Amino acid sequence: MIFIKMSSETTAQAPDSKSDLLGKSVAELRALMESLGEPAYRGGQLYHALYIERRCDVSDMSNLPASLREKLASQTRVALPRIVRRHVSTDGSVRYVLSLSSGDSGRAAKDATVETVFMPSENRQTICISTQAGCAVDCRFCLTATLGLIRNLSASEIIGQVLVALEDNRAALKPQTNVVLMGQGEPLLNYDAVMAAVRIFLDPHGLKLAPRHVTLSTSGIVPGIERLATEKLRPKLAISLNASSDEQRNQVMPINRKYPLEILLDACRKYLLRSREHITFEYVMLGGFNDSPEDARRVVRLLSGIRSKVNLIPWNPGELPWHRPEAEWVEAFQRILIAKGVPTFVRDSRGRDVMAACGQLALLESASRQASPLQP
Ligand code: SF4
Repeated sequence: MIFIKMSSETTAQAPDSKSDLLGKSVAELRALMESLGEPAYRGGQLYHALYIERRCDVSDMSNLPASLREKLASQTRVALPRIVRRHVSTDGSVRYVLSLSSGDSGRAAKDATVETVFMPSENRQTICISTQAGCAVDCRFCLTATLGLIRNLSASEIIGQVLVALEDNRAALKPQTNVVLMGQGEPLLNYDAVMAAVRIFLDPHGLKLAPRHVTLSTSGIVPGIERLATEKLRPKLAISLNASSDEQRNQVMPINRKYPLEILLDACRKYLLRSREHITFEYVMLGGFNDSPEDARRVVRLLSGIRSKVNLIPWNPGELPWHRPEAEWVEAFQRILIAKGVPTFVRDSRGRDVMAACGQLALLESASRQASPLQP
C-alpha cells in the first residue's frame, strides 16, 4: 500500500507564457524553431549551445545569429532552478535547496523546493538530483516521506538541477561527472519526465554522460523496472533493498506489500543486463534491525542469479528512531557477502554535517517555510 499525501498548495503566480527551452529533445527544438519561422537545423544549434556549451542565457549563444537570439529572448526562456540556499559540508560537498519555477508555458505548477547535492572527489563530481518534490513512497527511514508527494518534476527541472550544480562549481570541475537520481522522489513514478532528462544526459550531442555514470535508484516499482528494461539507452539501475525478508521490508518500505521481494527480484532476474552491466542493491543498515549475519546470508540467497553489487550504507543517526550499526557488524555483513561472491562496498553518506541523510534538508526547509518565507 502506498500512502499518497497530496498538497493542495499552488502558486499564486501567473504561468509564464514563454516556452521553456530546457528539457526538450533535439526534435522538439527543431519543431520549435520551425514554429518561430526559422530553419529546423537551428534547433540542433540551440541544443548544442544548451548542453555541450552549457549556455543558459540565449544572449551568450554565439552560434546563433543575433536576430534569432533576440527572438528567443522575447519568446522563450531557460527555466533554471533558483538557488535558495547552499549548505557547504566540511567534506566539500554542497547541498543546494532549489526553488522551481512553473516549467513550460501555460502550466501552473505547485510551489516546490527540492534538494540537489554536489559531491566533489579527486577525479570527478557526483551530483545527486531529485525527480519529484516530496515523495509518496513511505519509506520509514526517510524524512522526505513525511512531506508526501507535492508534485512530479518536469524534464526541465530535472536537467536544471545538474546545470545549476555544474555552473555553480564551474571553476573547480573535474573531468568526469556522475549523476545519481537518488534525491527526493521515486524516479520510476515520474517515468516519462525522468527518461526525457536521462536521454539528454546520455546523448553524445547532449550532456555526453556515459550510461555507467548515471544511476537511477528505485524503491522497487516493478512496472517501471520492466519498462526501463526495454529502453535502448538507459542509466544504471539501483534497487533500494534495505531488508532481507518480506516481513522486514514491509516494516521499512510499505511499497513491498505491493511489489514483494519475489516479484521484485524476479523482475531483476528478467532485466537483461548488457556487457559489464550489473544491478546495484542499496542496503541501509539499521542497527539491531537488518544488520545480523543471518540477514547477510538471506541477502546472498535473495540475490542469487542476479549479476549484482551491494552498497552497505550504515544509518546516520538523525531525527528518526533508528540506530547506527556497530562497525564490527557492518564488516561481518560485508565479509559474508564477499565470501559468497557478491561484490560489496560500505558507503558513508557525504555531507553529514549539512543534514545528509535522505530528506533531512527537505524537512528542515519545509518547516522553516511554514514559519517564514524562504530568503534568497
Ligand atoms: S527513500 Fe526515496 S523512495 Fe523512499 S520515501 Fe524517501 S525519497 Fe521516496
